[in-house]
Amino acid sequence: MKKIVAWKSLPEDVLAYLQQHAQVVQVDPARHDALVAALRDADGGIGASVRITPAMLEGASRLKALSTISVGFDQFDVADLTRRGILLAHTPDVLTESTADTVFSLILASARRVVELANWVKAGQWRQSIGPAHFGVDVQGKTLGIVGLGRIGGAVARRAALGFGMKVLYTNRSANPQAEQAYGARRVELAELLASADFVCLQVPLTPETKHLIGAAELGSMKRRAILINASRGATVDENALIEALRNGTIHGAGLDVFETEPLPADSPLLTMPNVVALPHIGSATHETRHAMARNAAENLVAALDGTLVANIVNREVLRR
Ligand code: NAP
Repeated sequence: MKKIVAWKSLPEDVLAYLQQHAQVVQVDPARHDALVAALRDADGGIGASVRITPAMLEGASRLKALSTISVGFDQFDVADLTRRGILLAHTPDVLTESTADTVFSLILASARRVVELANWVKAGQWRQSIGPAHFGVDVQGKTLGIVGLGRIGGAVARRAALGFGMKVLYTNRSANPQAEQAYGARRVELAELLASADFVCLQVPLTPETKHLIGAAELGSMKRRAILINASRGATVDENALIEALRNGTIHGAGLDVFETEPLPADSPLLTMPNVVALPHIGSATHETRHAMARNAAENLVAALDGTLVANIVNREVLRR
């Protein structure tokens, strides 16, 4: 019987499904050595939120497939997996809409100061009708700049254009004609997007090219009233530069779901800034979507081990061998 290592706890029905196809060994990823040992004689692996390094796969000669319960695959060295002939599967699509909801909640919460003012009410501070000191900025009718308009960026563009009457600008290496046609999205250079957008929203994958894509110079070229939204990966933004820009009033505020170090360290200056909405990486974190992702990742893994997986493949080159 095949052996699968799971380094994230799985919903009961998903675990039962995997157990119909293989022996499943569940490992707490905090026990690094136990995870490495389990991978050494496994055929497949499934999990999320743990860096899987080449060193961890040394000697894992039976390993044929890994399945991440996420769309992003920056926790893996894809070139190394390909060299080893290990197929990597991920879960696009099933999380697109819930993640776009998270992005939009960050846009609204940052612009209208929802978290700050809700805390203010709960602290008993609301003693008379509010004035300009508590006003926010409009979302509807404004310009949204999406850096990386793919699946999630497209779902954000749809909400922005059709729901909030926003103008949508975007950057991508290739054009997205569907978003241009359906949401009036306009592809521009990053410099134009940064100079024109009221909300700059990052939705690129984290790669060597997108690491610190937004740094001090980029923040400096944004409007002073602009808000930065990041629900991609923390390292697409230079966090120290962002902290500086928020302190200096270079930009108006930020809505962040992801950070360079997660969980966000208790001494991070971001925690004390009223113009920052910080979430604990909840992009896809609804009961429905997390279940669908686990199910999808389990099905991807079983099919990969059977040699029948056709979609959701990160390194298709492995199949061509
Ligand atoms: P996607 O469909 O692949 O979209 C990514 C977009 O970024 C594409 O339009 C791509 O267009 C563009 N892009 C890629 N590399 C680029 C580069 N070097 N420079 C500029 N643009 C680039 O992926 P998705 O499903 O929307 O997911 C996007 C990312 O969101 C994931 O990789 C993940 O890191 C993140 N995410 C976060 C959460 C969360 O919990 N916060 C949840 C889900 C996903 P071109 O190829 O034409 O450049």
